[in-house]
Amino acid sequence: MTCTEFLAQLDDMLDQDAAIPLRADLQEHLRECDHCEVTLSTTRTTIQIYRSHELYELPEDLRERLHKAIMAKCKKC
Ligand SMILES: [Zn+2]
Repeated sequence: MTCTEFLAQLDDMLDQDAAIPLRADLQEHLRECDHCEVTLSTTRTTIQIYRSHELYELPEDLRERLHKAIMAKCKKC
């Protein structure tokens, strides 16, 4: 799995419960890639902050910003 593939999956995960365990192939990538691990933990923290304020639906602009930040970082990989 490449970083681009991983990050595309991560975007899908924004719609899911952050507590759901990662698929095995995603975990495999994280073991090899510190960059994606940091990106994942940052994204999860952001989602948890939103959910703790009972904003269960991520605002569209936040999704947009997260997505752009994720893909921008990926280019440096
Ligand atoms: Zn990666």
